[in-house]
Amino acid sequence: MSERDSMVCRSCGKEERASEGYPCERCGTFICQVCSMRGVVLCAKCVDEVAKGAQ
Ligand SMILES: [Zn+2]
Ligand SMILES: [Zn+2]
Repeated sequence: MSERDSMVCRSCGKEERASEGYPCERCGTFICQVCSMRGVVLCAKCVDEVAKGAQ
């Protein structure tokens, strides 16, 4: 009945509509449209791991 279309963005932490978001290019987790428009293609965890030099 109620819409269950919201997911927590793994970059900014806000709850946004899943249908308007994009998957992280590395792990596929949810990135919201706002972050995606800002050029974010990786979730916070992946950004952190890439920064540390992990593959
Ligand atoms: Zn976001
Ligand atoms: Zn990721």
